[in-house]
Amino acid sequence: MSLIFDAHLDLAMNAIEWNRDLTKSIAELRRREAGKTDKADRGRGTVSLPEMRRADIGLCVATQIARVDHDAWSPVFGWRSQAQAYAMTQGQLAWYRAMEEAGEMVMIRDAAGLEKHLEMWDGTNIEHRTSNTQHRTEQLPVGYILSLEGADSLLTPQHLERAWELGLRAIGPAHYGPGVYAFGTDASGGFPPRGKELVREITRLGLILDVTHLCDECFWEALELHDGPLWASHQNCRALVPHMRQFSDEQLHALIARGAVIGCALDAWMLVPGWVRGTTTPQSSGVMLSHFADHIDRICQLAGDAHHVGIGSDLDGAFGTEQTPQDLDTIADLEKLPALLAARGYSREDIAGIQSGNFIRFLRGAWRS
Ligand SMILES: [Zn+2]
Repeated sequence: MSLIFDAHLDLAMNAIEWNRDLTKSIAELRRREAGKTDKADRGRGTVSLPEMRRADIGLCVATQIARVDHDAWSPVFGWRSQAQAYAMTQGQLAWYRAMEEAGEMVMIRDAAGLEKHLEMWDGTNIEHRTSNTQHRTEQLPVGYILSLEGADSLLTPQHLERAWELGLRAIGPAHYGPGVYAFGTDASGGFPPRGKELVREITRLGLILDVTHLCDECFWEALELHDGPLWASHQNCRALVPHMRQFSDEQLHALIARGAVIGCALDAWMLVPGWVRGTTTPQSSGVMLSHFADHIDRICQLAGDAHHVGIGSDLDGAFGTEQTPQDLDTIADLEKLPALLAARGYSREDIAGIQSGNFIRFLRGAWRS
């Protein structure tokens, strides 16, 4: 057992828009939503803070997320103006701050904070856990690196500096559809001038550029425009699931060459081909955690090593168990991954890298002063 790093969770979105008190158990969250039908995943959520601690998911990338609605189809709600989207992301930040005050979470914004957090989790659990220390891990704050998924809420590119001062360390310029600064999933086109300006700010401030959700044109432009650190926080393989939301082998090769780490996602729609949201079920598709291992394995085969892949579960990204592998009930089932990888011949060291080591190494490099 070792610390698990999840590179993509929308915790604050769930707290505020889904009205979930994430300090409660999964059973309690599901019970409170019984009979509600306003969202597809009501009563089927898989993520809460106690559930993360149960599986030693002690560190994650947590988003601020608010789109502007450009009348394009999206599985996610969009606001009518940037000012409204901005206000939502500030509300989300306020929730993270409240979680910090309650000792539930802690923001990780630099190398020193990262090392301190790893020491706290390492010293308390992992490997030598006994029934006595288990009680202590249940009290540990979950570390989070703040990321912005889709940049629509930044009123201008200059607002990125303010966000950096508030702790923002990673940013994905686009989400679904055409965005204010970039074109995302199900859209196409290169960066408009203000998008290029935003990427220059990302580079100047030293944020991690998250290429997830960028359409192909923006993806290749982003790699040209930005020479700083980049990752794909929740991203699977197009060779296995043919849709532009996934990256082609060529794109994955380019990321690996840049030293990026790719977090594989657990959204069933991205795990098996032909998934129709709201129609296909985990049972009808046969989706299992082994499909998740397939995407991880493909990236390792492309890289020739196991150093460029990790976990970016996305498990609270507007879906629940109606859209996850059949052998996953909650996020704590990430604990089943090591055995799946070991059965494919992965070494203990490589598995530890995939669980958390690769993203931790990446952050140490990105935050080296
Ligand atoms: Zn996403």
